[in-house]
Order: sequence, then structure tokens, then C-alpha cells
Amino acid sequence: MNNKFPKFVWLNNFGFSCSLTFLLLGLFLGSVGLGWIFNSLLILVVLIFIAPAIIIWRVRWWLQRDLVEDKCPVCGYGFTGFNKIEGQCPNCGEPLKIEGGHFHRVIPLDTIDIDAVEVSVNQLED
Ligand SMILES: [Zn+2]
Repeated sequence: MNNKFPKFVWLNNFGFSCSLTFLLLGLFLGSVGLGWIFNSLLILVVLIFIAPAIIIWRVRWWLQRDLVEDKCPVCGYGFTGFNKIEGQCPNCGEPLKIEGGHFHRVIPLDTIDIDAVEVSVNQLED
């Protein structure tokens, strides 16, 4: 015997009777002249079901706009960060700034970034 079937029928009957009660309550309040109570309850129920969907959609939109996935310019470790926020690389600890969808090194104002060039001894003697 399947034990889940009676529960399923009971849940369906419960949902049907609940909505029927809600409908009868609405008709009763409308006939008495308190239809605004039913309308406000209806709006409240609709808001309860629609508000989470709107909130989830908004959070997903915000995350897609502000999450940046890139690699550290120093060590090449790939990770995710928030746009327009300064942070540190979790692998090497380098301070990083996230702008334009990419990670950039945070360089202090009085620092000059140079590339080392190897000069041969023969070139200096000439
Ligand atoms: Zn790094």
C-alpha cells in the first residue's frame, strides 16, 4: 500500500477548502460593506508572494553587475571580488583595486613602477 497517497489527497483538500473559505469570506465582507478589508488582505497576500521574487531578482541583478572574476596581476591566482572595492589577493596578499571589471595593483602615489633592464658589462666600457 502507498502511504503517501492519502496525505497528498488531504493536502489537496486542505488547499481547496482554504481557498474556498477565503473566497466565501471575501464575498461575505463585500456584501456587508467591508470589501476594503478583503481587498487589503488580497493585496497583502499578493505582496507576500511577489515581494520575495522581486527581491531575489534584484539581488541577482546586483550580484551580476558588481561581481568581478579575474586573476591577480602579481601571482595569477583567479578569484572573485566586488566592483569598485579595494582588497587583497587571498593568495599573495597584494593590495588590489577592482576597476572596469579587472584587478589592478594599488600603487602608493610616491612609488615609481619600473622595469629592470639588464645591461651587459661590454656596453658600459664603450
Ligand atoms: Zn596574488
